[in-house]
Order: sequence, then C-alpha cells, then structure tokens
Amino acid sequence: MQIEIPSNSDFSEHNLPFGIFSTEGIKPRVGMAIGDHVIDLLELLRAGIIDIDPELLKQSTLNNLIAQGKQVTNKLRTKVQAWIKSDSSPLGNQSKVFIKQSEVTMHMPVQVGDYTDFYSSIEHATNVGTMFRDPENALMPNWKHLPVGYHGRASSIVVSGHDIHRPKGQTKPKGADAPVYGPSRRLDFELEMAFIIGKPTELGQSITMENAHEHIFGMVLFNDWSARDIQKWEYVPLGPFLGKSFASSISPWVVTMEALEPFKVQGPIQEPEVLEYLEQKVLANYDISLEVGLTPQDGAYNVISNSNYKYMYWNMHQQLAHHTVNGCNVKVGDMMASGTISGKDETSYGSMLELSWAGSKTLELNDGVKRKFIEDHDTITLKGAAEKDGVRVGFGEVSAKILPSL
Ligand code: MN
Repeated sequence: MQIEIPSNSDFSEHNLPFGIFSTEGIKPRVGMAIGDHVIDLLELLRAGIIDIDPELLKQSTLNNLIAQGKQVTNKLRTKVQAWIKSDSSPLGNQSKVFIKQSEVTMHMPVQVGDYTDFYSSIEHATNVGTMFRDPENALMPNWKHLPVGYHGRASSIVVSGHDIHRPKGQTKPKGADAPVYGPSRRLDFELEMAFIIGKPTELGQSITMENAHEHIFGMVLFNDWSARDIQKWEYVPLGPFLGKSFASSISPWVVTMEALEPFKVQGPIQEPEVLEYLEQKVLANYDISLEVGLTPQDGAYNVISNSNYKYMYWNMHQQLAHHTVNGCNVKVGDMMASGTISGKDETSYGSMLELSWAGSKTLELNDGVKRKFIEDHDTITLKGAAEKDGVRVGFGEVSAKILPSL
C-alpha cells in the first residue's frame, strides 16, 4: 500500500498533530494525522520505528503523553517525520500503521481539567462594546491593560461531530416586563482557537513571559457556542454563565507549537504600554487563516467569515502570564481559549452577533437562505490553516449541527 499526501493537505509531514482515534477493532488510543490517514503509533512502535513506553500510546487521552514533557513528544514527532521523509521506509509496506481517516472515530484529545476563555481580539471587543454599550467608549477601561477572561465550564467541551441541542434558559425579550423561559432564539458560534497546557505549575507559582512557551503544548480550533439572549440577561455583574456553559466544540487534532513555529508573526502594537510582567520580547502571534462555514439542512456550505489568528491583541504568552500572576496553578490538559477572533472588516467577524450586527442585518446565503442567528439543523464548521513558502500546517475542522431543544 502506497500512501500519498495530497498537496493541499492540512496534515503535511510538517504538521504531524496528535489525536485520539478508535476503530471497530481498536480502542481509543494515540494517533497522528498524515494526509488523509491516521498513523497508529502503537503499530509504528511494534514495527520498531519509534521508541516509547507503549502504555503512553494506549491511553484514551493525550494527558499522560503530554505530561512527559516536550523532550519526549518532540522526539516522537521528529522520529516519525524523519521516517516519513526517508526513502527507505516510508509510506509503503507498513499497511497496519496507516488507517484512513474516513474509517476512524476521533475522540476528545485531552481530558480538560479547567477551561478559561479570554476576550483578546480588539476588533471583537470593540464591536461588542459598540453594540451593547457606547460606541464612544466601546472598550472597558481595563481592556488595553490586561487580557480579560473568565473561567468556563470544562465538562461541556466536546469534540467535532458531536451535535448540540439548542439550549433553554431565561431571557428578557425587548420591551417585556419580566423574563421568560424557553429555547434560546439568538444562538451563535464564536470563532476561536485554544491552547492546551503541557507543563503544570504548583499553586503559588507564576508563569513568566520568558517561560510561557514551555507550558504550551499545542492548539486546536474552538467553537465557543453562545446563546446571546441568555447571555445578555444574565451577565451583569459577574459575566458569562449559562449562555456559554451548554457547549463548546473543538477540533480533534492537537497541532504542536513546534509545527506552528514557522508561522510566527509580529502582533498588533500595544498602546498604551503594558505593565512589565506582560511585556513581549519575542514573537508570539501566529499567522493562521480561519474560515467559518454555515450549512443549512440539505443546503450548500456557505463561507460566512474569513479571519486570522494573527489579529489577536493579547497573545498566548500574555494570557498565561496574566492568568498565573496571582499564583493560580495550571494543569496538563487545561484549555485556554482566545476569545472570538474578529478581523477589521465585516467579512472577518467571528460571530453571528457581529455579522448580523445584533440582528439588525440579514445574511443572504446560497439558495435564498437568510440568517441572523443559527437555526435548528444548521451545521457550523470552523477551519484553520497556516501556509508559508509551500509549507502547510492545518487544523482540519471542527463541525457540529444544532438540533432542536430537548
Ligand atoms: Mn468565547
């Protein structure tokens, strides 16, 4: 069997992301994506190509493997990469090693202990502030001084393909005297990316800007589903709660920071200057093109937004330094999401809230379909990939359908 890697594949030999897969005959265990295939790392170990404790590969999450540290996971990736690039061994003959992605089920890559959601896109924060508060003072006074965030709900993070029921809750319709209970009527997605903690800290310790990179294992695409009507009524004064906690969806393959290294870029200039513990000395933004698609039931895939992770005002290092400046500890598998990633113009907005400007505009889609927010049986798909000098490293996608309320 000869394996070919399609030239436009997100999963080139430069990527080699980690994930958890299963088949009818194989219980969930660690794999790597290559082209349209999964590399069964346990079979690669049995073939004598890699050298690692087999128990780490038989796990149903990546937590224990990641906890071994970057020296172990990087060595594993480099070994597989060298094997794929070499003339003698590769892609032929090792038929048990490769399984078609269309024949596997993907699972949550990590057990998420804690989940934090930031609010780090200046375009998104400005848009929301303009709509809900004051166009003259869209950003709150703290926004340019610290990466604003809140503690989210880890239990409801699910992997791509897991359909989501429309949440129910309490809302206060415009002009009504009292709140009502029922299905959300302003269901939204949020285009985000999340990073996964690879190295823990003890309670009381802080992560600095200098060592933040050591603590970040890799990244996934992240759809932070949001019920805007529930959110609007509940969020003052303590912030997001049930309008957010019903579900978030992630892509199944964890792309390592090492694979993303070639795509580092300068972030936006931060003015006013940030406090010393947030001062940026190295590049920590990444040029990753992002796309959002909406597919109505039996309808066409519509691209409704194109954004980029490089727009982030606050980067991952700053988020982590701020998150732990008070001594809050982090654990392997913790997930930190970026916040909605909007660009400057309206084709790059990362939520329906912004695309429809709080429901004041209608999105005209293929086949005469119109949308202000997400309707039942709509599928939302996020895609992301970095590309430079012929090297492509992508995330695949996170896709999920909205089902009617239970
Ligand atoms: Mn969010």
